[in-house]
Amino acid sequence: MKVFSIQFLSAFVLWAGVVIAGDLNQLPVISKKEWGGAPVASDADTASYHQTPGYITVHHGGVFFAPDKDPVAYLKHLQTFSTDEKGWMDIPYHFLIDPAGKIYAARPLRFAGDTNTEYDPHGHALICMIGNYEVQKVHPAQLTALIDLILALMHDYHIGPEKVATHRDYSRMTVCPGKDLYRYFQDGWIYDMLKSRSHWKKAHPDSVN
Ligand SMILES: [Zn+2]
Repeated sequence: MKVFSIQFLSAFVLWAGVVIAGDLNQLPVISKKEWGGAPVASDADTASYHQTPGYITVHHGGVFFAPDKDPVAYLKHLQTFSTDEKGWMDIPYHFLIDPAGKIYAARPLRFAGDTNTEYDPHGHALICMIGNYEVQKVHPAQLTALIDLILALMHDYHIGPEKVATHRDYSRMTVCPGKDLYRYFQDGWIYDMLKSRSHWKKAHPDSVN
């Protein structure tokens, strides 16, 4: 009986641990390896970049993105531009979401992002919505993926909704993430969604295994 209890207990702890640790792992995130991105160079100067995310900050790419454009080609070009032109270790964002709602991993979360503006991205998990939402409309699938990703990050890193914002909330130098995306933050829609879907796993029992 005692042996049974211990086995039962460890199985439960293991199961609970897996569930608690991995909201991000349960999302269909396309890894850098899968989309063909280069890893951070082994000789990159990463010492000052180590971070634990405590904020979630949303950006847009700032470049018009036609629906028939190849997101992987965009990601590869962005990575080359970031390392070769800007001298950054990687794409400045941790995740990017294309108009179809596919989520791509970019810079590892353990490294702070980079920016052309005056805010300090240390401690921020950076999400970039591919496109220019100053001039184009956010696609519903992209918004759904954004909510999924924000909720997973909030859960895994114990981040409250008050720490979820956009680039322009931290910088006077930019309109990023563009007016059509910013309005969802401005009118509170995003926060209502985060609140109403905070038990999203119950609505998606198949995602728990
Ligand atoms: Zn931005």
